[in-house]
Amino acid sequence: MPYFSGEYDVAVIGAGHAGIEAALSSARLGAKTVCFTISLDMIGNMPCNPSIGGTSKGHLVREIDALGGEMGIAADKNTLQNRMLNLGKGPAVHSLRAQIDRREYAKYMKHALENQECLDLIQAEIVSLNKNGNLWELTTMLDCLYTAKCAVIATGTFLDGKIYVGDKSFSSGPDGTFSAVKLSESLKNTGVKLRRFKTGTPSRVNKRSVDFSSLEPQYGDERVTPFSFDCETPPKNLLPCYVTYTNDETKRIITENLDRSPLFGGAIEGVGPRYCPSIEDKIVRFAEKERHQIFIEPCGLDTEEMYLQGLSSSLPVDVQEAFIHSIKGLENAKIMRNAYAIEYDCVDPLSLKPTLEFLDYEGLFGAGQFNGSSGYEEAAAQGLVAGINAAFKAQGKAPFILERSGSYIGTLIDDLVTKGCNEPYRMMTSRSEYRLVLRQDNADIRLTEIGYNIGLINEGRYNKLLKKLELIKAERKRIENTVIAPSEGINELLVSRETSALTTGCKLSELIKRPQLGYELLTEFDKNRPDLPYEIFEQVEIELKYEGYIKRQYALIAETRRLEKRLLPENIDYNKIINLRTEAREKLNKIRPLSIGQASRISGVSPADISVLLIYLKEEKL
Ligand SMILES: Cc1cc2nc3c(=O)[nH]c(=O)nc-3n(C[C@H](O)[C@H](O)[C@H](O)COP(=O)(O)OP(=O)(O)OC[C@H]3O[C@@H](n4cnc5c(N)ncnc54)[C@H](O)[C@@H]3O)c2cc1C
Repeated sequence: MPYFSGEYDVAVIGAGHAGIEAALSSARLGAKTVCFTISLDMIGNMPCNPSIGGTSKGHLVREIDALGGEMGIAADKNTLQNRMLNLGKGPAVHSLRAQIDRREYAKYMKHALENQECLDLIQAEIVSLNKNGNLWELTTMLDCLYTAKCAVIATGTFLDGKIYVGDKSFSSGPDGTFSAVKLSESLKNTGVKLRRFKTGTPSRVNKRSVDFSSLEPQYGDERVTPFSFDCETPPKNLLPCYVTYTNDETKRIITENLDRSPLFGGAIEGVGPRYCPSIEDKIVRFAEKERHQIFIEPCGLDTEEMYLQGLSSSLPVDVQEAFIHSIKGLENAKIMRNAYAIEYDCVDPLSLKPTLEFLDYEGLFGAGQFNGSSGYEEAAAQGLVAGINAAFKAQGKAPFILERSGSYIGTLIDDLVTKGCNEPYRMMTSRSEYRLVLRQDNADIRLTEIGYNIGLINEGRYNKLLKKLELIKAERKRIENTVIAPSEGINELLVSRETSALTTGCKLSELIKRPQLGYELLTEFDKNRPDLPYEIFEQVEIELKYEGYIKRQYALIAETRRLEKRLLPENIDYNKIINLRTEAREKLNKIRPLSIGQASRISGVSPADISVLLIYLKEEKL
């Protein structure tokens, strides 16, 4: 007889990057929440790269922060190195990335969960999940029974996890933890369709065994931009990374041993991430490339572990050692943790709603790697939305949905639940049609008011945003009313930047707008520049320089919003709409889109099908 251990509003299975945000947001919204993890010492673990952010992932982290999530704050507090990527390109793709102290980050997140009101954190493996009336019943390995109105599955790479290294494979979670085999069986018995995905990670070597003398160091940026918009003390750059490259010998060793790779040998059935390929995958897919760049990254201040970014592999240990030793700087490297691939169960996200609730299981939500995505940031973003919606569902409040035209989080979730994914889904800026508007620098302007309205952002932070908006408006007005007179100095600068010299006075705003110029270059001529935070000038300059493009994107967004507002009845029977093409009818019945907008993004639903649908809705007065 199971031992009854508690009744909750929301139960979160997992305390990885998704589970943490789900549990914190649910509890912060006042829902009585319980969070389970197989090991308390693996909360917020980074089984792969010890870093947060990167191209488009930095956008997600800043959006999570703007909405009231925890990842950005945790990253700033445990930063080893901070860099803004893609500064050579336009602001739409500027992305923050920080090297993180892996153990300190995990400790920080464990403490944040422990300190959270309304939240119980429990080390227990959930072995079964069943619906009993209106409640979900969760049973642990020790036969304790918990009930909850809503449950969030955020099991990551643990669900029936299986590790592969050469011809060796065994049931396991990442970093030597248990695999969650029983829960996988229980979900299948409940009727949840699961599939196999895989991912891989490189070796970690001891810093003392690396020859840094021949390696190129890479340092953090002078101007450090924190992830959190609420960061009072920006993080410091504490440690460098190092760059090296594979070579012909590396290629020879790997090519000669491909038959011993479980990936190429066919032992691994799970589908891997296209954009995080293993080194053997890269050697095969990009055979023409002479060398592949490798980053040697620190994992923490109090550890000698160094992460070999770019050398993910599932080749046998002896081959791993051989190809690592073929690389400059790593000739005598001592491997502390071998590279491996992990295969795990996850769900097809087409079975979820934009709230991340299952279409067929009321009150059951999915988040993170379990939903078919890959990456800490993608996981945390989904965890936040799933946690909010589980709490709102338990409290009988309206669902919380982020539009794809308003955020990368909205884009991520809409892509997953509307288009689906046949391999682990990684966010990229090219996935958004609105990337010039959805920049990392304005995530607070786009989302903090939403966070405030749902109750995750407090008054203080909201007022900080209002103050920032006031300063931006005032600065915009100031430069519109500031006229720079022609002078030898200004014209020397203009000619040197190959832009037309002044013959009469010119508005400062017009000068800043010029592609060759900007606030920095005009400092000397802008006598009355107020002492404002860098991000105020950054906002004004971007708005000015890209005014036309931004206007066009907002016009597109207005049109998209019009289609999103055209809702579809939940119980509409697409089989009755005879003029719909078969493929469209099947897809619409499977995905059950909430709006015409979402329907129009389903692959296999054509614009003609959308017109048929709009006519049907009109005729049926729906
Ligand atoms: C080997 C490896 C390589 C990776 N490589 C990459 C990469 O190259 N690029 C990339 O973007 N991402 C990579 N990742 C993925 C990245 O780690 C995940 O995206 C991220 O950790 C997902 O977060 P999550 O919260 O969904 O799951 P996780 O961080 O995996 O957390 C899952 C949580 O669920 C708990 N749990 C699971 N089952 C149960 C149960 N039955 N009962 C109780 N608790 C349970 C676990 O204890 C854990 O707390 C890799 C991961 C691994 C393991």
